[in-house]
Amino acid sequence: MPKEERKNKFLIHPLPVLTDNIIWIWVEGNQAVVVDPSIAEPVISWLKAKRLELKAILQTHHHEDHIGGTKNLLKEWPYSEVIASKSDLNRIPFQTISVDNEEEIIIMGYPIKILDIPGHTKTHIAFYLSDKKNEKPPILFCGDTLFASGCGRLFEGTPEDMFISLERLNSFPSETEIYCGHEYTEANLRWANSLQPKNIEIKRRLLDVIEKRKNLITTLPSTLKEERLTNLFIQAKSVNELSNLRNHKDNWAI
Ligand code: ZN
Ligand code: FE
Repeated sequence: MPKEERKNKFLIHPLPVLTDNIIWIWVEGNQAVVVDPSIAEPVISWLKAKRLELKAILQTHHHEDHIGGTKNLLKEWPYSEVIASKSDLNRIPFQTISVDNEEEIIIMGYPIKILDIPGHTKTHIAFYLSDKKNEKPPILFCGDTLFASGCGRLFEGTPEDMFISLERLNSFPSETEIYCGHEYTEANLRWANSLQPKNIEIKRRLLDVIEKRKNLITTLPSTLKEERLTNLFIQAKSVNELSNLRNHKDNWAI
């Protein structure tokens, strides 16, 4: 990648762990921010190999495969902040900065907006990262709410919660990069393709993703532009339609 191109993008590295989780590491100079560390060891090795200092941990929701590594990361970097929803103080007790919906915080010199996006869990937040000059594509760390060509299962929220949350995520510019908590893209597209076999956008992306996964390449980040074309949940026009899709997908996966 040419140097100039790299300058105009946030530097965000994927760390695929466990079965299909992805821990995201955002790097600025010699500092790093980690999103949803399910486990600590690979993060510690990666950061140490690159001589990076952990500045903050962002937590989208309380599930163990998103917060499981945080305690051990804090042993290694005790001054790191842990940023999570104020509403989830009981379930994410080690948070040091407790945030509210719509709040803006500054991390490594950049503004991050907090968005409440319930549905997968009762409390779930996304982090919207942008630069003030709008020179870099904005970033959404959206945990288990929006996946590439899919959305999260409704463990605690209602279809209406998810509908509103996806609408909210979909309100950002089309070049916004989508960083999800799991590599589910291929399964999501196989399901979407089974429902809409004549949809050429879904087929195009499915073929591309199958090729990438054959070589174990991470298919993320996505962009909002791509989700608008190939995500049936984002395209759903009503709560009822989203609810039917979610039920269908839940049973299809089994
Ligand atoms: Zn989850
Ligand atoms: Fe998860």
